[in-house]
Amino acid sequence: MFLRSCRIPVKSIINKNENIIPKLARLGIFSVSDLLSFYPRDWEDRGNMVPLKNFKDNCVCTLVTVLSREFMGYGPTRAMKVFVEDDTSQAVLNCFNLSKRPWLEKTLVTGSRHFVFGNFSVKKGALQSSSFKTSVETKADKFNKIFPVYSLTSGLKQINIQHLTSELLKRYAKEIEDELPLFITQKRNLLSKREAIKEIHFPSSLSSLERAKETLVYEELFYLEVMVIRRSLERKRINKGAVSTGGEKEFTPLQRRLLDRLPFKLTDGQRGAVEEINGDMSSNAGMARLLQGDVGSGKTLVSFLAALKTQNGAEKGQAVIMAPTELLARQHAENAARLLEPLGINIAFLTGNIKAQGRRELLKNLASGMIDIAVGTHALFSRDVEYNNLKLIVIDEQHRFGVTQRALIMSKGKNPGLLMMSATPIPRTLSLTVFGDMDVSVIKDMPPGRKIIKTHLAKESNEKKVYDFVNKELQKGRQAYFVYPLIEGADGIKDAVSMADRLSADIFPGFKTALIHSKLPEDDKKKTMDDFRRGEIKILAATSVVEVGVDVPNATCMVIEHAERFGLSALHQLRGRVGRGQEQSYCFLVYSDDLTDEGKMRLKVMLENNDGFIIAEEDLRLRGPGQIMGKEQSGYLVLGISNPIRDMDILVKAREDALSILENDPDLLLENNRVIARVLNEAPPFNETAL
Ligand code: ADP
Ligand code: MG
Repeated sequence: MFLRSCRIPVKSIINKNENIIPKLARLGIFSVSDLLSFYPRDWEDRGNMVPLKNFKDNCVCTLVTVLSREFMGYGPTRAMKVFVEDDTSQAVLNCFNLSKRPWLEKTLVTGSRHFVFGNFSVKKGALQSSSFKTSVETKADKFNKIFPVYSLTSGLKQINIQHLTSELLKRYAKEIEDELPLFITQKRNLLSKREAIKEIHFPSSLSSLERAKETLVYEELFYLEVMVIRRSLERKRINKGAVSTGGEKEFTPLQRRLLDRLPFKLTDGQRGAVEEINGDMSSNAGMARLLQGDVGSGKTLVSFLAALKTQNGAEKGQAVIMAPTELLARQHAENAARLLEPLGINIAFLTGNIKAQGRRELLKNLASGMIDIAVGTHALFSRDVEYNNLKLIVIDEQHRFGVTQRALIMSKGKNPGLLMMSATPIPRTLSLTVFGDMDVSVIKDMPPGRKIIKTHLAKESNEKKVYDFVNKELQKGRQAYFVYPLIEGADGIKDAVSMADRLSADIFPGFKTALIHSKLPEDDKKKTMDDFRRGEIKILAATSVVEVGVDVPNATCMVIEHAERFGLSALHQLRGRVGRGQEQSYCFLVYSDDLTDEGKMRLKVMLENNDGFIIAEEDLRLRGPGQIMGKEQSGYLVLGISNPIRDMDILVKAREDALSILENDPDLLLENNRVIARVLNEAPPFNETAL
């Protein structure tokens, strides 16, 4: 059996302890496969002896003799001190809550000998531990091993998962089949899947644990690459015969007319991107391009210019621009109307909130080709929406979309061009894996005159200073955002709803404050944003709903409360809401007084960097790709054990192997490659439309 397609429910193998089932479910474990693929987050090496005197990273693993004992307290607080020694030193084992752990008193008797593994530190001049595990000397074989440490949920113990996993391995290990071709396993010196699974849970040595990790990481990245490369080959196949005509990069007359109407010049990066897009779109080999540019680099304008390219004389078609939130879609639609309608282009705005008559009318005009450019949310791709001649699809802030249903989107036209825009920059290393088949344009420069945003860290107890500073900016006629992690109430955390009241009543009574978050009706949000843009509202109390795209150049202050609760890339996005005009802008990251040093270090990355690419790399390193992309949000990057940044060297090998296999045998018909075809068929590791 393939482990990944084995759907035997855990229920069927648990006979005693049934109340464990809902707890496993909380960890996402429902089947045998889920449990065996629930890899440890760490391992305890109790095989390697570390005597008391030489304790390493506070950790000790040694054989001790109990010298004497001392008891304290009564009833539930009864405790015991056990004085022990090994060949190198003496130490104290503190046993609190003795009433709950009666076996300690029974086993750790004076004169007995035990293996001890635990965290030790020197307190009051003595080496001590309150967190340790013991086992009698005679059971050495049960103790002196490498033990897995799993991420748990309340009510589960390490031993529960250890027992279950070991039980499952006894029953099913021999049935686990390899999911990689044998020649690859040999070439890369990997373990068989069966060995890898056994070793990852119960390693026989540290070196075989390493090989097990390497094997599983390789397998995951290999399939990621196989799928990415297959899709890329598919695209080439569709476009076969469509020989590139050496695409025309020149700006079209309509594009030039738009530029003439702008009060500024394109940056070099914008110009380069438009030329590349023009080239793709006039080469009839189809476009699949990712446009990367930091927040504020002016991607929207590039997308408008791309849309104009579809409005060319005889080959005139339609373009759609899709944004992840209604707020942003509306802003784009308004800008498109302002900039493009004077050129004689018909713009439409479509979201899920447009109902009945209005919607029918819109759909009719889209189907007839009356509308040239449609701007909206994913409603643009609802089942009942038809286009007359869809030539270009722009997806803004593509990292915010759920599983981007690329197939569905693409089916709305005849092989339309695809332009994805991303501001949470996807580091090069990652874009290679995930967008392996896409061309990439990068806008490296910012529009001129932008001042670097001054970023400050502030403790919550110092927030008065922050308020005073913002007050001065407001006095000068500027505007401010205050962002909170929650819409409404949790203990000890400031939320947008109650802070909106406090900001307007107590903190800035002289300035008009409004509240904005995702749960408000769209009409209210629209009105608030309009008033804020016009400067009637001075302060927005918001959630991260303002994270993407919002563009109000007169806003110069961004205050993010409980900043430690946001990811670095989200912070960078939020900070990018200011610094969009000519004035100096400021960002304050306010954190709780009790934030750990580690947490502070993380926030400091924001002080030292203005470059979204570096911040994203840092975020990846600290949190891994699942987190950065938002596991639920972004279906496309749900990786288990691998981290493409950390495992770059394995990724490169996996990509090389996948490429050479698919180039020689694109349909995976050769005997050697059959297993790959079977895996893709029986249990595709990634959702294909998501890639
Ligand atoms: P993002 O890349 O984050 O989507 P936007 O498209 O929202 O950035 O652009 C940010 C701001 O910069 C907008 O107000 C836009 O009008 C302005 N802008 C875009 N291109 C230029 C340019 N070449 N020169 C000056 N300002 C520009
Ligand atoms: Mg944008």
